[in-house]
Amino acid sequence: MTTSSDVIEDAPEANDDTALPSATLGGEQKRSIEQITLLLFITVPFLALVAAVPLAWGWGVSWLDLGLLVFFYYLGCHGITIGFHRHFTHGSFKAKRPLKIALAIAGSMAVEGPLVRWVADHRKHHKFSDAEGDPHSPWRYGETVPALMKGLWWAHVGWMFDEEQTPQDKYAPDLIKDPVLRTISRQFVLWTGVSLLLPPLIGGLVTMSWWGAFTALFWGSLVRVALLHHVTWSINSICHAVGKRPFKSRDRSGNVWWLAVLSCGESWHNLHHADPTSARHGVERGQLDSSARIIRWFEQLGWAYDVRWPSRSRIDSRRSSDGNGSRRGKATAGTA
Ligand SMILES: [Zn+2]
Ligand SMILES: [Zn+2]
Repeated sequence: MTTSSDVIEDAPEANDDTALPSATLGGEQKRSIEQITLLLFITVPFLALVAAVPLAWGWGVSWLDLGLLVFFYYLGCHGITIGFHRHFTHGSFKAKRPLKIALAIAGSMAVEGPLVRWVADHRKHHKFSDAEGDPHSPWRYGETVPALMKGLWWAHVGWMFDEEQTPQDKYAPDLIKDPVLRTISRQFVLWTGVSLLLPPLIGGLVTMSWWGAFTALFWGSLVRVALLHHVTWSINSICHAVGKRPFKSRDRSGNVWWLAVLSCGESWHNLHHADPTSARHGVERGQLDSSARIIRWFEQLGWAYDVRWPSRSRIDSRRSSDGNGSRRGKATAGTA
């Protein structure tokens, strides 16, 4: 919705002509080396995920490896949902400096690209949601079944290989101007390394064996990264194709209940598009939203403040009259 004054539809524009320093190493055009790296980072964990089931059958999974997988999964997931998404992209709460920095690092450990690029892409997604200009709409190729299949693949993975990049100085000047955030964003490779090496380090030290380090690398790093990738991308693909649409949004975002726990509350995606700055996405009774719960704890600790909790009347004002949201397809694209 564009009618609400407190919705960040777009980032604040850079107000002078001085060129902002780049916040990612590749700049705005992804170079071929970066494309290849990206391909490796997507395929290697995915192959690990495919191998995981038969290996689990044969090896069994130790409690340590399972613990590492769950811990690092939810660390990265909440870094993305609370940090990259609700705080940095939408400003749904303000964070004290140490929390802000911790969120930037935790989100980087999800291996979903540098902070500034993530935020720029996502702000562009909200600006054009499911219309021309959306970096990852599953409706890009049309509404027939083959077109949707192709579009789902595009929204899930394909879009990341697009040569055209979201201009970071236009969509995320507020982040680029912060030297610490800019540095964390540029250090993406470092945080990827930390994220992938910590589990085998812990696994090796606890078991005092190379085998323990290896299985921890497999489960705690590779399988964990692949799972988190696919769950995050499912918000872009599945949650823009299916799901209930009880709220008014100008796109096809849906609420998908079965992804709520794995996505840390982000799959209540219809509400999110209806009220992007809300700190809570699962607003109805029983709608699990672990990110909102943790933001509440941060607030109680005094680390987060000015949290935009949605009031009942605000939620009700966003309900759609027909209970099915308003849809916008290709036919009306470009009118935003
Ligand atoms: Zn969306
Ligand atoms: Zn969003």
